[in-house]
Amino acid sequence: MREIVWLMSLIGLSWQIACKAPQPVAPPVAPREPLAEACPPAIDPMLAVNTLKPAPPGFLDCRLATPEYAIPPYAKFLAGVRICLDPGHGGDAHKRGYKRGPTGVREAEVDLRVAQYLRELLLRAGAEVRLTREGDCDVGLSERAAIANEWPADLFISLHHNANDDPQVNCTTVWYHAGVDHRPASLDLARYLCFSLQDGLAHPQIADVPLRSDQLMYDIGFAVLRETNMPGALTESSYHTNPAEEQRLRDPEYNLREAWALFLGLAKYAATGLPRARLLEPANGILLLPPASNTDLGEETAPPQIVFELDDGLRSRRDRGWERQMILTDSILVRLDGHPVPHTFSNEGYRLCVELPCDLPPGEHEIRVDFQNMNKNSVLNPLFRLVVVSAPGD
Ligand SMILES: [Zn+2]
Repeated sequence: MREIVWLMSLIGLSWQIACKAPQPVAPPVAPREPLAEACPPAIDPMLAVNTLKPAPPGFLDCRLATPEYAIPPYAKFLAGVRICLDPGHGGDAHKRGYKRGPTGVREAEVDLRVAQYLRELLLRAGAEVRLTREGDCDVGLSERAAIANEWPADLFISLHHNANDDPQVNCTTVWYHAGVDHRPASLDLARYLCFSLQDGLAHPQIADVPLRSDQLMYDIGFAVLRETNMPGALTESSYHTNPAEEQRLRDPEYNLREAWALFLGLAKYAATGLPRARLLEPANGILLLPPASNTDLGEETAPPQIVFELDDGLRSRRDRGWERQMILTDSILVRLDGHPVPHTFSNEGYRLCVELPCDLPPGEHEIRVDFQNMNKNSVLNPLFRLVVVSAPGD
C-alpha cells in the first residue's frame, strides 16, 4: 500500500512539472575567471610612464658617427654660444591623459629626449648648453626662466609638441613673445628654427604663417618667453594628437631627426652672425651730469653723451672685407625711455654715440639700441639701464 501512495505522489509531481509554463533558459555559465594573482593588473596607457621606444645602447654615438649626421662646417659659429633648452612639462604622468597622444605617448617624454639629443649636437659644435630639467620632474615656469636669466643664456628655446581636437592636424609652429617689435631677435631665432623644422620633418601640411605671437594663446603670452631676458622661441614641432605622428614621436630615430633640424637651424642662425651691443661710456652704467649751478649761470654745456660699441657678429671673423661696415645704417635706432634720441654711428671702431637731452632727470632710465647686421639679424641684447646722477654744485 505504501508503495502505491509513493508511486502516485511521484506521478503527480511529474505531471505538475510537465504542466508548468516553460521557464526562461538560464544563461550559460561563464568560464571562471583566472585567479587575480595569476593575471597582472592592466596598465592604463593614459597613466603610463616610459611611453617611448627605448633607444638601443650607444644609439646616439652610433648615429652621429654616420655621414647622415656629419656636423656641417658652418656649425663652428655656435662655439661659445650659450643656449638654454627648456623641455616642456614633466612630472605629470599621474594626470590621466594629460598631454598625451591617442595611445598614451607623453609629450613631456618626447620633449626631453629631443632636448637631450639637441644638447649633444650643440656640445659637439662647441656651444654651451643647459637644460631646465634633466628628468621627469615638474619645474615651475618662472624657475625655468630664472635658470636662463641667471646663467645668463644668449638664447632660450622651449621645446614642445602640439595638440588639436582634430587628429588630422600635423604641422610646425614656432612662437615668439608679444608683438613683432618687442624683441626682433626672437623672430630671427624663431624663423631659423621653424624653417629648419619644416625641412627636416617634412610634414605634408604647413601653417601658412607658422611664426606666431604667444599673445594669440594668452593675453600676457607664455611665461617662459615673457620672463626670459634674452631672445627666445617656443617650438611646437608637430602634433602628438595625430595618430601617425604620435607613433613617429615615440621612435628615437625620429626624435634625433627633429633635434638635427633644430640644430641646423641654430647653426645657420649663428653662422649669419649674432649681433650684440656693449655700453662703453659710462662703462658702469652711471652717468654723472655736470653741477646744476653751471647751467644756472647760462654756461653753454654740451649735451650728455653715451657711447656704445656695436658688434655685427661677423667682422671679428676677419674674413675678406671684414673692415667694411656690415651693419645696416638705417636699422640703427636708439630710444631713451621709449623715445628716439639722436645718434651717430662710425664704421671706425664701430662706435655709436648717443646724444641725451640736457634736462635729463636724475634717476634710472632705459636705453634701447636696435640694429641689424647685413644678414638682417637683430641685436641680441638691445636693453640697457642707465642711472643718471647730478654732480653736487659748487
Ligand atoms: Zn607642450
